[in-house]
Amino acid sequence: MQINKEVLLSSDTKIAVSSYFGAMTFDQKAMRARLPKEVFSALQDTIRAGKKIPEDIAGAVAHGMKEWAMDNGATHYTHWFQPMTGSTAEKHDAFLSIDRDGTPIERFSGEQLIQGEPDASSFPSGGMRTTFEARGYTAWDPSSPAFLMKGGKDLTLCIPTVFISYHGEALDAKTPLLRSMDAVSKSAIRLLEILGLSGVSRVKTFAGCEQEYFLIDKKFFSERPDLVMCGRTLLGALPPKGQQLEDHYFGSIPDRVLEFMQDVEHELYLLGIPAKTRHNEVAPHQFEIAPIFEEANIAVDHNLLVMEVMRKVAEKKGFALLLAEKPFAGINGSGKHNNWSIGTDTGINLLDPGDTPEKNLQFLVFLVAVLKGVHKRADLLRMSIASMGNDHRLGANEAPPAVVTVFLGGLLENVLDAIESGKVDLKTEKQVLNLGLAQVPVVNKDYTDRNRTSPFAFTGNKFEFRAVGSSQAASVPNMVLNTLMAEAVDDFADAILAKVKAGKKKDAAILETLREQITATKAIRYPGDNYSDALQKYAKKNGLPNLKNTPQAIRVLEKKDIQAMFVKYGVLSVEEIHSRLHIRLERYVKGIDIEARTLQLMLKTLVIPDVSEYQGDIGNSFNNLLAASEAIGLSDKALKSQAGHLKALAENLSSLIDLTGKLDKVVDKLETLDTEFAKADYCADVLLPFMVSVREVADRLELMVDRSRWQLPTYSEMLFEH
Ligand code: ADP
Ligand code: MG
Repeated sequence: MQINKEVLLSSDTKIAVSSYFGAMTFDQKAMRARLPKEVFSALQDTIRAGKKIPEDIAGAVAHGMKEWAMDNGATHYTHWFQPMTGSTAEKHDAFLSIDRDGTPIERFSGEQLIQGEPDASSFPSGGMRTTFEARGYTAWDPSSPAFLMKGGKDLTLCIPTVFISYHGEALDAKTPLLRSMDAVSKSAIRLLEILGLSGVSRVKTFAGCEQEYFLIDKKFFSERPDLVMCGRTLLGALPPKGQQLEDHYFGSIPDRVLEFMQDVEHELYLLGIPAKTRHNEVAPHQFEIAPIFEEANIAVDHNLLVMEVMRKVAEKKGFALLLAEKPFAGINGSGKHNNWSIGTDTGINLLDPGDTPEKNLQFLVFLVAVLKGVHKRADLLRMSIASMGNDHRLGANEAPPAVVTVFLGGLLENVLDAIESGKVDLKTEKQVLNLGLAQVPVVNKDYTDRNRTSPFAFTGNKFEFRAVGSSQAASVPNMVLNTLMAEAVDDFADAILAKVKAGKKKDAAILETLREQITATKAIRYPGDNYSDALQKYAKKNGLPNLKNTPQAIRVLEKKDIQAMFVKYGVLSVEEIHSRLHIRLERYVKGIDIEARTLQLMLKTLVIPDVSEYQGDIGNSFNNLLAASEAIGLSDKALKSQAGHLKALAENLSSLIDLTGKLDKVVDKLETLDTEFAKADYCADVLLPFMVSVREVADRLELMVDRSRWQLPTYSEMLFEH
């Protein structure tokens, strides 16, 4: 489709969204219009099969894509990829090239489409490459449509790609995700065949990412070095009205924010991203956007674009977008609820309770397979969401704790208990299963809000992984979910087949395996309040991992059985795992180092000078008072009160100066430690707690100092002024 410029540039258009949805993507419609028929259908086959694009059609696809992009005003193209930094990267190339006879011409070859060659040395590889092999390759993921991104004055053709090294190692987050999608598909098809469902050629995983974020006024943002450098505040006293009243949630959305949301949605629709819901969140100035779920790799790409588009639109609207998990201490943080499900290419959601006994058995097997996977790999799931930002949020009385448990809801708990306790006997089992579950669709709605404290909750026909951090790319959590599911599903299938081999009838073998697995995974089910102390005790008693911080969680990648699982399913090689481990650790240490240095800067150049100046004023005023006290007949007691005020100020300032001096030493020590793990542990155990203790004094002083002397915008201003 030729994009109508008016639509493109204005979100004020009143045209129905469906008429321009995806207009900036090289989607089915555009492909059909631009590609020769045979090429179009060959490309569709490739996409359906989840394969790489064959070289013989690449030239024709590239040509069609280029014509489409240029007709819509693009001059450049880029391979858009996800390096292991957790964000996205792009290197732009012009279509322009110069012919041998000197004539300028726009060119885009099949080779340029399917493979690019950016210099890999500027992206982290975690030690996977030696320098003489610094080449990396990007290759188009044809299942994710190319799109045109607005930037500056122009549009750029963005081609979603994987990023791999010269030797084929994954240098990105997309490649392992795609591999995990293949792995779980293969395992699930095998299990489905055992269960008697044939004719499925691909099992897909789906994700829907609810994205939480804060919006604050840009002028406040630019006056806070901590927000500019670290994306979160390192100082700041809690306002008298925090979120005690919780009146923000689902409250009316301020007009200025609503306009931001509308502009964001307009851009997203052009990019074919199905934004669906928008609302306020718990904290002041906190909001959420949720799209309709899509196949996992596309959902991940789209979530990255959602974050990027929001950042750009916020900038234009005079806002700063805060995606950090905990931008304000003491105020509700942000997450990314990753709704996840698994289904067939024939349209069956395997986590949807059915209306026949057969379907329900299939549902129960897949449901319990999820329990099995999460139970066995709870520590890995915890690893998948570990980051320095998320450490501040997890378990902070508002977000899932570091312990991973699963919430199923009362009805399913009863069904599983009945199967486990043998109340459901083999002869009547099918019938009872049917009776038990016939009610499920009726109570579906109740599932959604029954246990908001659970990190991993079943919500009717999908699981909602709520511990994912708001700023992180969803690729790793989904990659881990798919892989642990591939393994659990395979184990399930193996167990059934072993019983059949031993002479059991298939139905009996399936039910017996189900029963065994329900018992074996029981500990992972936790119906209670996940914010309570009881959970901590429960975790200890039942041997559930409780990895308190990022370095502890990252260590999981060193476990041999976890490495073996990734290798077995072709998702990550041992070398690729090591590279990720190093990059995660390095980013953690660097991030906290930057935070500590930013804090030093703020204390030395803003807080201490502001307080000193104010103290000087009070000191002068006290001296004047002292001189006049006899003349005005001020009592000793009254004089003492004022002296006390000055004293308190001076004592706190002295203590802050001392602590700032100590902070210098604590920061300097980091560099002297020799291993990445030693550094990371030091950050978690020493540096961060020390930063908190310094902060306490600074925050106390903030509440004692004349507001006009305090240069940093306060929490009250940032969170309550519109
Ligand atoms: P809530 O706020 O109650 O958690 P929302 O409606 O905000 O619910 O978000 C639910 C998310 O789950 C949406 O992104 C939705 O598209 C997604 N979702 C719904 N069904 C599925 C499914 N089968 N698989 C994956 N995601 C799903
Ligand atoms: Mg949710």
